[in-house]
Amino acid sequence: MRRFGVSLPDELAQEVDKISQELGVTRSAVVAQAVSSFVHTYSQHLRDGHRCLGAVISLTEGVEAASRMMEEYKDLIANYSHMHIGDRCLSVFVVHGDGRRIGEFLMGLSERAARTLFTPLE
Ligand SMILES: [Zn+2]
Ligand SMILES: [Zn+2]
Repeated sequence: MRRFGVSLPDELAQEVDKISQELGVTRSAVVAQAVSSFVHTYSQHLRDGHRCLGAVISLTEGVEAASRMMEEYKDLIANYSHMHIGDRCLSVFVVHGDGRRIGEFLMGLSERAARTLFTPLE
């Protein structure tokens, strides 16, 4: 077992606290479960040498940040749809290409979005 400090946005940290209380487990157990899930996806799909097909779903306050990312990663984006949920933007990207670049696209979006999900499809 290794210990290291991790910084989380306040809202996410509160959610981690809430889940750990509800499940009666430590904060570390909740974080370990979440990290394990990401690491599994990363090692299977978001890596060099794997040609991946997947979907990225992103909820943002505006579209500007996402559109800059789209320009940089347009070679990956096979399809894109955009809709409005209240005053927020929901973008759905079908991505196909190098797994490592999809990982970069995903992490870049998640820094700019309220919520970002990746689902590998193959
Ligand atoms: Zn894949
Ligand atoms: Zn929009």
